Amino acid sequence: MISERSKRVDSSGIRKVFELAAKIENPINFSIGQPDFDVPDVVKEAAIQAIRDGFNRYTLTQGITELRERIIHDASAAYHKKFDLSQVIITSGVSGGLMLALLSIIDPGDEIVVFDPYFVMYKHLTHLLDGKAVIVDTYPDFKIDYAKLKAAVSPRTKAIILNSPSNPTGYVYTKADIDAAVKVAKENGILIISDEIYDGFVYDGKFDSPANYYDNVLILGGFSKTYAMTGWRMGFAIGSPELIGQMIKLQQYSFVCAPSPFQYAALAALDLDTEPFREAYRKKRDLIYDGLKDAFDIVKPGGAFYMFPALKAGDVSSFVELAISHKVLVIPGNVFSEKNTNFRIAFTVEDDELKRGIDILNRIVVEFENRI
Ligand code: PLP
Repeated sequence: MISERSKRVDSSGIRKVFELAAKIENPINFSIGQPDFDVPDVVKEAAIQAIRDGFNRYTLTQGITELRERIIHDASAAYHKKFDLSQVIITSGVSGGLMLALLSIIDPGDEIVVFDPYFVMYKHLTHLLDGKAVIVDTYPDFKIDYAKLKAAVSPRTKAIILNSPSNPTGYVYTKADIDAAVKVAKENGILIISDEIYDGFVYDGKFDSPANYYDNVLILGGFSKTYAMTGWRMGFAIGSPELIGQMIKLQQYSFVCAPSPFQYAALAALDLDTEPFREAYRKKRDLIYDGLKDAFDIVKPGGAFYMFPALKAGDVSSFVELAISHKVLVIPGNVFSEKNTNFRIAFTVEDDELKRGIDILNRIVVEFENRI
């Protein structure tokens, strides 16, 4: 009964850690990729008001006009170009936008270039849609290498996916990284899909996007992380009228529309000053980076709320098991990678818990290395 296509996709390794977590009492949970603050009250009120006001029916497939206008207005100010209403769709999370985008562009055998380490969905969704994910290794510094990327491109390449700030590394692309990707894309006339869900969490300097330097870019934007509304399923995509038009058509036959009351709430969210959230996570980033940098090999995360330390010696799976046995939940690197040399920490916990986690990891890595 179950299709081969569906069987091809393995269930996320993160879920396995979640299941383990459910069995451990009071774990230090570094496994969850969502903010530890709650949706701000004004945004909750806007959602409740929208429900009371009767905004509970289908909206336009592409989303309510007020929200689309606001997104286009903000994007036209934030990026070095002007956008219009034909270029935006409201999606059910960035996940929804990614699904619609890949459905719109992949024919069987088409290739999508993905940088390793990668957000889990890129590879699996591509394979689910009969495409091929071509993996470009970016270890150990996570930078984009022009020559490696160029070598990964073929006549079947439909898109290059960029994700900055990155899940799982927290790495933020420099202008040189963006230039390398844009150069290859321009030379080959390839679409760039830029997953910018963590653009609200950049700690050193300003967020930059390939869309500032190249027209053939699909921006995937999110509300989940910036406003801690991961369960509300809100996102958007900005791109060429042709691609957005196709995504709208496919949304009609799949998600239908993003959740109606939360579209109104998202509109209210866009009025919020998100600086305090960024500042809180910048402090946590500093705390955990300073706390662990001597014990592990770490590229200092410039954004998001992840860190992807490598062990100086030994096998990561054994280390992750040891950490979990000490109630510290982290995710082994091979969930996000073809390699298994690193592990992911999501530092979305209270500062006290963060400090306890740092102490335990420092203690057990010594024990672990002594055993080797
Ligand atoms: N893209 C990246 C890089 C993510 O880390 C996530 C969630 O973890 C998503 C997309 C999906 O987010 P959403 O909740 O908007 O579907």
